[in-house]
Amino acid sequence: MQITAKHIIYFIEEVAARIKDQRDELTLLDAAIGDADHGNNLDRGFSAVLTKLPGMTDHDIGAILKNVGSTLVSTVGGASGPLYGTAFLRAGATAVDRFELAPADVITALEAAMEGIQTRGKAQRGDKTMLDAMGPGIEALQQAHATGDDFVVALRKGVAATEAGMQATIPMLATKGRASYLGERSIGHQDPGATSIFLIAQALLVMAEYIQTTNS
Ligand code: ADP
Ligand code: MG
Repeated sequence: MQITAKHIIYFIEEVAARIKDQRDELTLLDAAIGDADHGNNLDRGFSAVLTKLPGMTDHDIGAILKNVGSTLVSTVGGASGPLYGTAFLRAGATAVDRFELAPADVITALEAAMEGIQTRGKAQRGDKTMLDAMGPGIEALQQAHATGDDFVVALRKGVAATEAGMQATIPMLATKGRASYLGERSIGHQDPGATSIFLIAQALLVMAEYIQTTNS
């Protein structure tokens, strides 16, 4: 499967649509253990990204992803703005001048995105953050890809592991970010950032399914 710049734009539009649709749910999750702005933060950011996409149709994938990253940094705010911004900037840096990616390149971009979040936020898995959804998701994707699954099948496994990771944040004690101020009271609530990661993972799967249907 070849993933083109047009497909990456499709993925970003899909992310924006999912964030908009789930905005209030994300904000409700953040109301329980944060400051009730995660859905609004991300919706503001991805709405700004949408206004820039029409000008990016002939750009390479690296440029598109970097533009998304810098737009998120300047519009999202909160902890998640710089974290998601860094993720897209780092992913973009792996795809400079590329107009097509193979599945292995997408996995490389995802790994770079997660490393960016780790470097920027200094969190580890188990701290009850977005990393607890992203880490298991990328691992399952890598493993499925390495054992020869096609990209759609591998992404389905990745999304399932991302969802399980998201749900596994419920019993966790938050030790990073705003939720950590609550101490023990953070236990019993699903992490908002892990939930937005799940939406993004779903969008990536929808993009791959779209490529598969349009190629067959
Ligand atoms: P804020 O907490 O500043 O209001 P948001 O509500 O937009 O920002 O985002 C909160 C989410 O950010 C959390 O649910 C968590 O997943 C993520 N997060 C917070 N701090 C970190 C960190 N240091 N590393 C990784 N993710 C983090
Ligand atoms: Mg918040």
